[in-house]
Amino acid sequence: MDWVFKEEHEIFRNQVRQFVEKEVTPYIEEWETQGEIPKEVWKRMGELGFLGVEYPEEYGGSGADFTYTLILMEELARCGAMGFPISVSVHTDMASPYIFSLGTEEQKRKYLPQIIKGEKICAIAITEPTGGSDVAGIRTQAKQYGNCYALHGSKVFITNGVKADIYIVAARVGEPEDQLRHRGISIFIVERGTPGLRIGRKLQKMGWLCSDTAELFFDECIVPKENLLGEEGKGFREIMRHFQRERLVISIISVSASQKVIEDAITYARERVVFNRQLSKFQVIRHKIADMVTYIEAAKRLTYHVAWLFYKGKATDKDVSTVKLFTTEVANRIAYDSLQIYGGYGYMREFPVERFYRDARVLTIGAGTSEIMKEIIAKRLEL
Ligand SMILES: Cc1cc2nc3c(=O)[nH]c(=O)nc-3n(C[C@H](O)[C@H](O)[C@H](O)COP(=O)(O)OP(=O)(O)OC[C@H]3O[C@@H](n4cnc5c(N)ncnc54)[C@H](O)[C@@H]3O)c2cc1C
Repeated sequence: MDWVFKEEHEIFRNQVRQFVEKEVTPYIEEWETQGEIPKEVWKRMGELGFLGVEYPEEYGGSGADFTYTLILMEELARCGAMGFPISVSVHTDMASPYIFSLGTEEQKRKYLPQIIKGEKICAIAITEPTGGSDVAGIRTQAKQYGNCYALHGSKVFITNGVKADIYIVAARVGEPEDQLRHRGISIFIVERGTPGLRIGRKLQKMGWLCSDTAELFFDECIVPKENLLGEEGKGFREIMRHFQRERLVISIISVSASQKVIEDAITYARERVVFNRQLSKFQVIRHKIADMVTYIEAAKRLTYHVAWLFYKGKATDKDVSTVKLFTTEVANRIAYDSLQIYGGYGYMREFPVERFYRDARVLTIGAGTSEIMKEIIAKRLEL
């Protein structure tokens, strides 16, 4: 099943594309060097309505559907650095959805308008130094004292972690030794500036450079009870549910960024002359490009199919895991093969393919590794 885009979708696509071409791509190099996206850019995206496409108008959103998220992510991913769409999607599709879907009316009214305007940036903090794949093994503790919880523990690899204003934090109510595993996990809103929350160093990464990544430390971090999201002890189920959107959005970004890299590689292969012939006329290069285009076409069709199921509320975790597994592995294959077409230039910083090569690597790790995707698929196959 293909996605049917109507005229209004194309208008939105053009709006995002123009924003990316004029206000993102020319500055990407600068943001990559600085290791962050300037605050004004978040506010600009807020003004343009890009930070709340699916949220209801009463909170400042556009009340649109997942089609618009798909288009938004496809277009942002063409900007030339994957750190940008990743940072934005963490805010819009990985962290803030917990407030929208689990929050009380009061929590939604307090936080969503600022998030949608880009005045407050969100991060999602699940992974800990002891492990990211085993979500049920989270050790950060939330001990209840009267009307508060005291959080103790640490988180690592948190996207937007350095700059965020609102952290969605998974923590365990009870002792880590309780062996409660998934049953003990709850989700909290922790605001920047909360006493006991320390934001660690900005982590130095291989790629996704304009997206800041931090460690977080909680030491007697007192969070009021009204910052609990959803029911105490029901967080694990919610994290698994929210992972579906997160993984699908990462897949959309992977496919679209790969598509842009192939387009550039085709242009290069046409222009580059070796042995007095265009590179694109050598069969080995033509076949490499044909293979890449075939893979990306398959990845795109699979993504659209699962996105359609998701839109209809029918996507299973197996569907989403297959698309996350396939699209991120394809992006890595495309990174390797497209760089090869450029020869030595592909290894040079000024060529976008060099950045893509570094940016693609983490796609099979973040938001659930390829091994974990295979475990989910295998489990659903009752192997
Ligand atoms: C740049 C970046 C940004 C990130 N952003 C965020 C963020 O914003 N918020 C957040 O919470 N997390 C974030 N993460 C964390 C990410 O989700 C984790 O890195 C990922 O889930 C893997 O966890 P881990 O690194 O602890 O690896 P581990 O869980 O230690 O896994 C190590 C290896 O063992 C394999 N493995 C683990 N369990 C199994 C198993 N059961 N069967 C087979 N193989 C297994 C894994 O696939 C992997 O190859 C980010 C990570 C990076 C690198």
